[in-house]
Amino acid sequence: MPVVPDELLHAGPAMRRRTVAVPVGKVIVGGDAPCAVQSMTNTDTADIDGTVRQVAALARAGSEIVRITVDRDEAAAAVPRIKERLVRQGVDVPLVGDFHYIGHKLLADHPACAQALDKYRINPGNVGFGAKRDRQFTAIVETAIKHDKAVRIGANWGSLDQELLTALMDENAKLAKPAEARAVTREALIRSALLSAALAEEIGLKRNRIILSAKVSAVQDLIAVYTELSRRADYALHLGLTEAGMGSKGIVASTAAMGVVLQAGIGDTIRVSLTPEPNGDRTREVQVAQEILQTMGLRTFVPLVAACPGCGRTTSTTFQELAQGVQDMIRERMPEWKKSYPGVETLNVAVMGCIVNGPGESKHADIGISLPGTGEIPSAPIYMDGKKVGTLRGPNLQVEFRAMVEDYVAKRFGVGAQRPAEPAPATAQPVDAAE
Ligand code: SF4
Repeated sequence: MPVVPDELLHAGPAMRRRTVAVPVGKVIVGGDAPCAVQSMTNTDTADIDGTVRQVAALARAGSEIVRITVDRDEAAAAVPRIKERLVRQGVDVPLVGDFHYIGHKLLADHPACAQALDKYRINPGNVGFGAKRDRQFTAIVETAIKHDKAVRIGANWGSLDQELLTALMDENAKLAKPAEARAVTREALIRSALLSAALAEEIGLKRNRIILSAKVSAVQDLIAVYTELSRRADYALHLGLTEAGMGSKGIVASTAAMGVVLQAGIGDTIRVSLTPEPNGDRTREVQVAQEILQTMGLRTFVPLVAACPGCGRTTSTTFQELAQGVQDMIRERMPEWKKSYPGVETLNVAVMGCIVNGPGESKHADIGISLPGTGEIPSAPIYMDGKKVGTLRGPNLQVEFRAMVEDYVAKRFGVGAQRPAEPAPATAQPVDAAE
């Protein structure tokens, strides 16, 4: 038997499924491009000040594409002014218009809006019915062709094309062994997206201007639908669990669903649809999307802090405060660090609570501290690039460790810095031997 079995030789996601690359403003979605993070505003788009503020906040938090609602004339008229204001502020983020029901009319009546947007999102389930549907869909696609914009054909479980669903249900009912209604609905969702994409191509939209999504609200449905969608076509795919919910439920459901699909190499852009708390921070969904991609080892955005969860061996809240303090410091310092220290986002920091895992985990990080647990000598060894470099103790420990992190970043990522021969792993996870 080999020392290392094959299963352990190559950990990581499956090779990315090859899709057609689609330019959305300055961002490429699909092809070889890294999976892009996107988000959506929840402001009234007619409120120009509020929308500009939120788009800028989302972009600064790391959203590489931002979608805004375009639901009526006032909103469509506001779009070019929002774009101008953002450009003046130096926020060059691609904008996507979210259209439902009357997208054809709004785009025709507001050519400046059609031009200012980088992508149009249309929902094949509510673009119209019967002959009207094809006419209205055609009008939107023709506008996209005229302005050379990308289109996301976004089918959705909650607004599925009812004519298509009814036809499939009827066909299924005639079978000797009909499939479950839920499976037929999944199939209808996939077909709705693919048939609309085929129609868009027939109208003349190039394949490299089409992105597909087929969003559902249940984890297992999302995995099944995207696995099948990816098997049937090579359109770039926008991945997201719709109506994921609030707080930890929304985060867990989105992560569980998207983690499985991304691990299979599927997904060219993701959005985490979190319902914010009243007056909550919309940028949270951007942070979660980045963390999904980074903890899976697919991209790096910000340095990671690995901290143990703590247990009966930790004598105080010192290590929780230190972990939080280091995390806060990194977020605060990142805008400056990113300018001065290229590659700083790959930094791994460990803040550990006792001797059980502390030294080991700290050695795996670029810089780590192992705080003393119950009954241990009250001193905290510091490790850099796998070697112990000193010990901290006393009331200024937090301040001193943060200064060491700052110093390490400057030396490791500053101009002319010497990179360690063997960098620490790109991902870091909370660990706990006591569990
Ligand atoms: S045993 Fe593990 S969880 Fe408990 S303090 Fe030590 S390192 Fe942290």
